[in-house]
Amino acid sequence: MIMSLLIRLRYYLECIIDMIKLKNIVKTYDTPNGSVHALKDINLEIKRGEIYGIIGLSGAGKSTLVRCINMLERPTSGNVIVNGKDLTTMTESQLREARKDIGMIFQHFNLLSTSTVYDNIAFPLKMQGKLNTENGKENVEHMLNVIGLESFRDDYPGQLSGGMAQRVALVRTLISQPEILLLDEPLGALDAFTRMNMQDEILAMWKER
Ligand code: ADP
Repeated sequence: MIMSLLIRLRYYLECIIDMIKLKNIVKTYDTPNGSVHALKDINLEIKRGEIYGIIGLSGAGKSTLVRCINMLERPTSGNVIVNGKDLTTMTESQLREARKDIGMIFQHFNLLSTSTVYDNIAFPLKMQGKLNTENGKENVEHMLNVIGLESFRDDYPGQLSGGMAQRVALVRTLISQPEILLLDEPLGALDAFTRMNMQDEILAMWKER
């Protein structure tokens, strides 16, 4: 009895402390040239509030690993536990719900090319039905202000510099207030100067959100 209580307590404590837990993650891609073992038995625990970097040579499996955390890539085996819930056992609709807590920014911005800067930032709130409620529009205005792009609100992503586009991608992700932010080389396509500035900006915005 006491043993089972202790085990349960430990499980709950782990859920509170470990926000992301990867257990024995394996990812194998079957290609016409044979199997590619991108991830072999990866175990990882990331605590709430922790900023965690994954470093490795090109092709080492960094992107695959990050994409397994929100199940953009489904692991071949192993468990992805976020906030105590195992994403690998969820249905697609449960996953869509769980992903609301996980924001992701990619190297190539992934902005909607036929939508304006304003509409790109507003898009997540619109999808969640929060644009016309809960101060949605004020929030979009605030984000435009934070990244200093008010005068570009009606421009399209193709009219922006790389640094500007990445700023839009950043606030578009932060606007829905995800608990977890996954960054897959978000500054890789930028010049060294912009990259340094953006690093500081991302950290400041993440802390202030
Ligand atoms: P990194 O981000 O560290 O550069 P990746 O995670 O992109 O590495 O890739 C890890 C390995 O998995 C590489 O050998 C890559 O070629 C392979 N890989 C990644 N995605 C696929 C895919 N969709 N199909 C087949 N092989 C892939």
